[in-house]
Amino acid sequence: MIWLCDSFIKEQELFSALRHEERVLKIILARFFPLIPKPLKFSYELNDPDIIGEADLEEMVIRINLSYLFSHGEIEGIDTLRHEVAHICSFFEIGDVWIKRRGKEVYWPHNKNWKKWCRFLGCRPYAKMEKNKQ
Ligand SMILES: [Zn+2]
Repeated sequence: MIWLCDSFIKEQELFSALRHEERVLKIILARFFPLIPKPLKFSYELNDPDIIGEADLEEMVIRINLSYLFSHGEIEGIDTLRHEVAHICSFFEIGDVWIKRRGKEVYWPHNKNWKKWCRFLGCRPYAKMEKNKQ
């Protein structure tokens, strides 16, 4: 008889939910942006405690901080995946967005177009608490 502890089962359930969400997001991305040169990949090996997730547009990799997801659960995890995919959708639709702030050009990742994609994908249209999240 195999004994499975609660945390192991919760981890498996979390991964199952994330894999499902990955598939859905890949289908949406392919439908709206069929000419994206590389397939989207997801990595859960982001270890910077200041970053929940990041979208690497060059490599087409979404990197996620797994310990954050373990501590915050499935709903937060799915919201994070959608947040990062919204960055990819926004970039492939209109490119990077820069605004002028106090006379300086500033990169604006959480711009209005990104928020539009957040609403479409079903995640909260704002960055969470961490300063470095993109
Ligand atoms: Zn972001």
